[in-house]
Amino acid sequence: MTLSTSLEQYTVWFVTGSQNLYGEETLRQVAEQSQAVAEGLAGLPVKVEWKPVLKDSDSIKRLALDANADDSVIGVIAWMHTFSPAKMWITGLDALRKPLLHLHTQANVELPWNDIDFDFMNLNQAAHGDREFGYIQTRLGVARKTVVGHVSNPVVLQQIEDWERAAAGWQAVKTLKLARFGDNMRYVAVTEGDKTEAELQFGVQVNTWGVNELADAVAQASEAQIDALVEEYVASYDVAPELLPGAERHQSLRDGAAIEIGLRSFLEAGGFGAFTTSFEDLGALTQLPGLAVQRLMAEGYGFGAEGDWKTAILVRVANVMGSGLPGGASLMEDYTYDLVPGNERILGAHMLEVSPTLTTSKPRLEVHELGIGGKADPVRLVFTADAGPALVVAMSDMRDRFRLVANVVENVDAPDLPKLPVGRAVWKPSPDFATSASCWLAAGAAHHTVMTTAVGIEVFRDFADIAGTELLVIDEDTTVRGFQKELRWNQAYYRLARGL
Ligand code: MN
Repeated sequence: MTLSTSLEQYTVWFVTGSQNLYGEETLRQVAEQSQAVAEGLAGLPVKVEWKPVLKDSDSIKRLALDANADDSVIGVIAWMHTFSPAKMWITGLDALRKPLLHLHTQANVELPWNDIDFDFMNLNQAAHGDREFGYIQTRLGVARKTVVGHVSNPVVLQQIEDWERAAAGWQAVKTLKLARFGDNMRYVAVTEGDKTEAELQFGVQVNTWGVNELADAVAQASEAQIDALVEEYVASYDVAPELLPGAERHQSLRDGAAIEIGLRSFLEAGGFGAFTTSFEDLGALTQLPGLAVQRLMAEGYGFGAEGDWKTAILVRVANVMGSGLPGGASLMEDYTYDLVPGNERILGAHMLEVSPTLTTSKPRLEVHELGIGGKADPVRLVFTADAGPALVVAMSDMRDRFRLVANVVENVDAPDLPKLPVGRAVWKPSPDFATSASCWLAAGAAHHTVMTTAVGIEVFRDFADIAGTELLVIDEDTTVRGFQKELRWNQAYYRLARGL
């Protein structure tokens, strides 16, 4: 089964609330106008399907159950064009298990002041119909995103798109199967976590396979398959001469190609969308997988190094949420600092495994020694991430819950790094280096992150809300003191919110 990262497979339902009191003529207009509003969302990346106007409790509950049961439906947008008495919504909202967006809108932008009569008032009363709906959602504790404004407003559309992307990420994680080859790096704390709790919280299945099962799949790679993949490498990358066919180190490239073929076939056969490796547990593999991992991340797979399954989840989620947008998502690690006062920068990289979707330039394909892992020199793509806005997000297991921490950052042009043979990014964190690092450390956030250059913080906020997961954001508004207070408050809130 080939991995899909496209948003085209998903649908969002557009639901309009009303009641039978209005009579046929008004309800016909409600239906017509709500179809026009739904059509206003046609340009968004996820298909919006208009549903017939809901007028009573039974049909509302039926719609919620149908949405739950349909795997292609990733969320529901609700609008109360008229007044829809909200007790009708109690059992339906209670049953709904899909992400909800409350669109507080109106059919018209401007009021036709000279023509307004009471029929118009009765038809266009979302101003209070939606307040009734807001009350019942809040009373029931229903998680939702509220978007306010007319659908012709690009700000409104962007907010809905962000939510659609988050809902797609949520759908992807709920159906995600993650294969770990080997366990976590020995003695490391932050890459550990409660895999059973992760399946309950996110729906992701995290399980481990012996690395030699992967090595067996690699051994199945045929010479013809390897030849074809080497051709693809030569066409796609700036390949170091020593790796080219006939050159002295060509076998390293063939070994790397075999690893990619075996890894892909293993993942496809098992329906996996994410995986981890461990340099401490390479079994019969000839090299630490580098090039293969980079290319699979670029195709949409999630990946975490050193057994870091939590970051692998985030890379997969970010790949889905950023589907179709410029940029990409990758495992990243805060590696080393440039501490020149006023111009502090973070140099991020990993041993090998950084996704080439972070660059629009043509990566170099090289082979170099790797002093760790005790295997042959691995092939890898070497490049620097494009300058531009980016986001790094980490997940930690805080014993009683998972915590996401995000930092809004700016990737900057890097100096030449002629002796650094890995993919990397150089960035400045918001609001400034010292505040960012202080808050990151106070939050217990990990050294591994997903770096995304495709989606911004709003998409991750929506994702965290949908997932019911704590998210701490470090951005231009963050202060150390304010952040410390938020940590304390969250500590209490998330324990209370969980109940006994
Ligand atoms: Mn690492």
